[in-house]
Amino acid sequence: MQRDIERILIPQEKIAARVRELAQEIVADHTPPRMMGEPEISIVPILTGAMIFCCDLIRHIPLAMKIGLMTVSSYPGKSLRAQPAQVLGQQLKAEDVKDHHVLLIDDILDSGQTIRLVKPFVESLGAATVKTAVLLRKDRPTAREVAADYVGFEIPDEFVVGYGLDYNNYYRNLPDIVTLTREAIERQ
Ligand code: 5GP
Ligand code: MG
Repeated sequence: MQRDIERILIPQEKIAARVRELAQEIVADHTPPRMMGEPEISIVPILTGAMIFCCDLIRHIPLAMKIGLMTVSSYPGKSLRAQPAQVLGQQLKAEDVKDHHVLLIDDILDSGQTIRLVKPFVESLGAATVKTAVLLRKDRPTAREVAADYVGFEIPDEFVVGYGLDYNNYYRNLPDIVTLTREAIERQ
């Protein structure tokens, strides 16, 4: 696996420091509800890519929260460019979304279609507010057209893996954000 890495774009120490900062921003924006009936937070990671980012992020958010899962695919298998986004499954309980402050968590904002698909869906379930947190945002116009409330890093418009992001469902367990060698991409 290590020999497939072309370049480390963001090392794990930098990711960890930035994830803590994002958590602080989120905490500052979500003061705990003081009265019965005030909206609470529900966290919705968009699987599978956001899994590791979400696990690290929420452990720095000491607020009462619920968690619901959605699985969306837009880079199936060996895709290096976005395909039409598809909801593959969701485990959201209506009562955990309705009248809640929902925070959608995704690994990377690229074509923007995942957020454009998921946000209206969550709004249709009656969320009080829907915000989005992404670890990475690609430097391309389509990514900037979609509003993201919390962004970890801006990266060049390149295909990256690691820290949850995959190629053909491999490399998610790499601790850094990296690019792959051409040889690794062609071998799969
Ligand atoms: P969007 O819907 O904004 O095009 O892209 C979001 C989804 O596409 C992400 O959640 C991620 O699953 C996938 N994606 C986008 N860019 C990359 C990339 O550079 N590498 C990997 N591994 N997945 C990506
Ligand atoms: Mg994804």
